[in-house]
Amino acid sequence: METGAAATGSRRLLRRLRDIMAGSGTAQERLNQIVKIIAADMVAEVCSCYVMRAGEVLELFATEGLRPEAVHRTRLRVGEGLVGVIAATARPLALADAQSHPDFAYRPETGEEIYHSLMGVPVLRGGRVLGVLVVQNRTQRNYTEDEIEALQTIAMVLAELAASGDLVSPVELQPSNGIGLLPTRLDGIKLNAGLALGVAVLHEPRVVIRQVVAEDPQTEQLRLSTAIDAMQSAIDDLLARSDIAAGGEHRDILETYRMFAADRGWLQRMTDAVRSGLTAEAAVQKIQDETRARMSKVSDPYLRERLADLEDLASRLQQHLAGRHFAAEAALPAEFILIARSMGPAELLDYDRRRLKGLVLEEGSPTAHVAVVARALDIPVIGRVKEVLEKVEAGDLIIVDADEQQVFVRPGEDIQQAANARIEARLGQRLTYAALRDLPAETRCGQRVSLQLNAGLLLDLPYLDETGAEGVGLFRTELLFMMRHDFPSVGQQSSTYRRVLEHAGERPVTFRTLDIGGDKMLPYMSETKDENPAMGWRAIRIALDRPAMLRQQLRALIRAAADRRLRVMFPMVAEIAEFDAARAVLDLELERTAARGGALPAKVEVGVMFEVPALLWELPQLLPKLDFLSVGTNDLVQFLYAADRGNPRLAERYDPLSLPVLRLLAEVTRACAAAKVSLTICGEMAGQPLDAMALLGVGFRALSMAPASIGPVKAMIRSLDMGPLETLIEAIATLPPRALRGKLRDFARDHGVAV
Ligand code: PEP
Ligand code: MG
Repeated sequence: METGAAATGSRRLLRRLRDIMAGSGTAQERLNQIVKIIAADMVAEVCSCYVMRAGEVLELFATEGLRPEAVHRTRLRVGEGLVGVIAATARPLALADAQSHPDFAYRPETGEEIYHSLMGVPVLRGGRVLGVLVVQNRTQRNYTEDEIEALQTIAMVLAELAASGDLVSPVELQPSNGIGLLPTRLDGIKLNAGLALGVAVLHEPRVVIRQVVAEDPQTEQLRLSTAIDAMQSAIDDLLARSDIAAGGEHRDILETYRMFAADRGWLQRMTDAVRSGLTAEAAVQKIQDETRARMSKVSDPYLRERLADLEDLASRLQQHLAGRHFAAEAALPAEFILIARSMGPAELLDYDRRRLKGLVLEEGSPTAHVAVVARALDIPVIGRVKEVLEKVEAGDLIIVDADEQQVFVRPGEDIQQAANARIEARLGQRLTYAALRDLPAETRCGQRVSLQLNAGLLLDLPYLDETGAEGVGLFRTELLFMMRHDFPSVGQQSSTYRRVLEHAGERPVTFRTLDIGGDKMLPYMSETKDENPAMGWRAIRIALDRPAMLRQQLRALIRAAADRRLRVMFPMVAEIAEFDAARAVLDLELERTAARGGALPAKVEVGVMFEVPALLWELPQLLPKLDFLSVGTNDLVQFLYAADRGNPRLAERYDPLSLPVLRLLAEVTRACAAAKVSLTICGEMAGQPLDAMALLGVGFRALSMAPASIGPVKAMIRSLDMGPLETLIEAIATLPPRALRGKLRDFARDHGVAV
């Protein structure tokens, strides 16, 4: 925190700068005056201002102390020299001995060799670097945190000048040259599947800050705290809303959001910025800019999410300061697509769900909270669409094609028609599948198939009713852990598992113990860098090496399933000994619960996921120990073909509908039948109608899949006759290479099977 004297000094300086900004003279003349004043105020021999020009080049625009002839001559690329590094990282830099820094780039025309220490800060606006402000001293001066903070505040004032278009032409300030108003197609990544068409609404048009320097800091302080209070109570109101209060991840996420809104460090930084002489809006903007700049450099997805939450809160705060009502109350088009840089879950919920058809984000990741909420609301979302905010104007017609990971901006007639036709067809198909809901999954020849759901969040559970699935065949517990900031306690875990079981009622739920590691690291666990994460320290391997974690999870499951049926499944078991060890932990927890007088589950069923091929040859010894086996083809196929399932280059290379995969699976079905152990399959294959047909052909009768697959797979089953299919499957060894998929497709067509 700043001292009182420092804050007074800072305010005085800011007022002088404001007077210069408002005074006469060209922008260049004003900038020249400003660097002089800063140098004097900071007791520095040099103060220079570099401005970003087209092509990511920083040009020396004004200096006090360096040679005047270097002005407009000295240019550095972003990343070049210390000034370039400050721009590239968007972070301040303070060095007592700048010349010995490896990135120091000597420019003889500046005459800077006599200055040893350097402190520089980025000039930020809207998360973009518009320039760099630097002071230098002859001595090896150690700049203090307060001095860095003060220079950052001054940079806020300079940002106004740099963004005004008076120093460099506004065209150069554009992140990329405008692309006019032609139809455009933009690429991104699918955050939630679906297709939608609507009019673009820009989420929170930027608040224009009219005044940076405060007239009266006390008034600004009051405005800031009033806005903070208003924002906090608006979040409370949102939490109290009946549709959210009921719970699920919506609620958990919003609770976290509320916690962030009360983050003392964040609030303090804004308060300090007001104390230093900024208006409340400028203070919020300063902290928001810094957050945004930090965010662009952070690669850790968890940290990015947290920074994104803070950014969203800052936007909300700006709206409160502007006295603006939220978009939910504004007149919105009947069907609109929301366009945003990033967005928090609370903000998404501000909008009228009936009108909101799709969401396009410049940032965002599949695990982002907003994506989770959008999934629950069934809104297609595309993220990481570069510069979408620059390329889309409010009112543009937009098509969000999340399945193809594309956004069409101002599409032509033909594309609109095609999209509308697809939307209609999907709607029709949904209705057809919905009509199958209460019909049995039974082949034409009378074979019953059990269709179950893959789930991982409380938000997925309503699909049990919607699809008519028999139960949850795979509950991926790790998703609940990945959504959190810390490791959940036994109590927290068991209350979540209990909610799952309560929702499922009589329908069985198979809980898979934590399958973390590989690509699913928990943000709060120290990261391990495996050379080959898919084959590394993951799932049951971590569980057995960190038995406390497994113990706690099993204890929570036992508690949650008191007097009910408990089904537990261990992932990635590669040998019997691993199962035995995990089973022993479960038995011990059951014993301990009983010894404590706790209620036990009415029935405990234990199973293993068959994902590692080596286990095939241990099945005869393993199966008698199990209640069920579940095949995870996603991992099984990647290990069988030695092909990383997440590598896009290999995605199409090996077809799981192949002789080796089907033969292996047929052998598993035979082993389970011989041992009378129930068998399911829960990899993605089970949810693809054609693949599922082949799985029935090799003997599977229980399939677990994503909710959207239940309808299409049931339609396939109800149109299938097993006899001819089994004949075809028996003959697969005689087919030429890579012919199986085509053959199965022909079979489906010839026999009227809906795939
Ligand atoms: C599988 O590997 O097939 C599976 C269902 O597990 P996950 O996709 O969660 O690894
Ligand atoms: Mg798996």
